[in-house]
Amino acid sequence: MMEEQGFDSLPLSQDSFRQLWESVAAPSISTIPMVTDVENGHMDMLLMNDQELADGFDENLFELAPEVSVKDGVTPPSSTVPVTIDYPGEYGFQVRFQKSGTAKSVTSTYSELLNKLYCQLAKTSPVEVLVSKEPPMGAILRATAVYKKTEHVAEVVRRCPHHQIEDPAEHRSHLIRVEGSQRAQYYEDQHTKRQSVTVPYEPPQLGSEITTILLSFMCNSSCMGGMNRRPILTILTLETPEGFVLGRRCFEVRVCACPGRDRKTEEENSTKMQNGTKETKKRKSTPAPDAASVKKSKPASSADEEDKDVFVLHVRGRERYEMLKKINDGLELLDKENKTKTKVSVKPEFAVPSSGKRLLQRGERSDSD
Ligand SMILES: [Zn+2]
Repeated sequence: MMEEQGFDSLPLSQDSFRQLWESVAAPSISTIPMVTDVENGHMDMLLMNDQELADGFDENLFELAPEVSVKDGVTPPSSTVPVTIDYPGEYGFQVRFQKSGTAKSVTSTYSELLNKLYCQLAKTSPVEVLVSKEPPMGAILRATAVYKKTEHVAEVVRRCPHHQIEDPAEHRSHLIRVEGSQRAQYYEDQHTKRQSVTVPYEPPQLGSEITTILLSFMCNSSCMGGMNRRPILTILTLETPEGFVLGRRCFEVRVCACPGRDRKTEEENSTKMQNGTKETKKRKSTPAPDAASVKKSKPASSADEEDKDVFVLHVRGRERYEMLKKINDGLELLDKENKTKTKVSVKPEFAVPSSGKRLLQRGERSDSD
């Protein structure tokens, strides 16, 4: 573009850009051939950190990026808002829970339906960890708590003041503890102040495919000044000793007096709600007995009784909707006129969408039929 070298500033700026580019991009060039699909800046960032790529999960792209954006093997700072997307990663990281049922006496139980752990305050919840291949030497497991709802997510999850005061432990402010390991370490991120606990990853015992860690939660979900009824997620990450995330699993946690009862209630409510939605959907998608009527406006053949049934029609595309709505508006208008004139029968003759779906009328609800 710049054939004329008369300007000093432009060529100079190009040179300095090239220098900058080379200095930035150089470390990654040698590793590029390893990767089949480099089309994204985040990939470059991954490569620059010599992070091995799992085979082509899309999640990789946006997920790992924030965590590997720090170079030189420094422990990456936790992102301000912890990532809560499940990511099995290269090592096929998974968590499982023992089947404890919903008996009254149960102190910890997990709902697969809701991906939610229900447990009592300070009672041990065994969490089973699975990997599909051996993680690197010195790998660790980290548990972090985060508020589930967007409006609370910025706040760090800590124990309530009441429970902290009566606890002599050094890590008294931590909600999540790892029990039964002398190697548990409690961290507070310098910048985000988020707390987490780690234990070294231990390969499964001979004849077993799982490693079990014991978590306990040191406040009730209802604790005033703490969680204060705000739902939380626990993020379990498999990490290198340097803190690079290799895999991640998240589950909701409710700490309460009656885990069995609460799980049962919430599962039932969820099932009811889902069934409810299904029924409504079913009803909505079932063609009306008379699919040709937008709003049935045909007078009963014997009498002049008006058909007051209201139907909902789902229409794909605004244009078609507007068209059908115009027709319906016209019919409504005719109805009004007919009411004064009577006797004149109007039968809709237009074609309905081939899908047989009904037209959605503003303000109408499917429940009304
Ligand atoms: Zn508390």
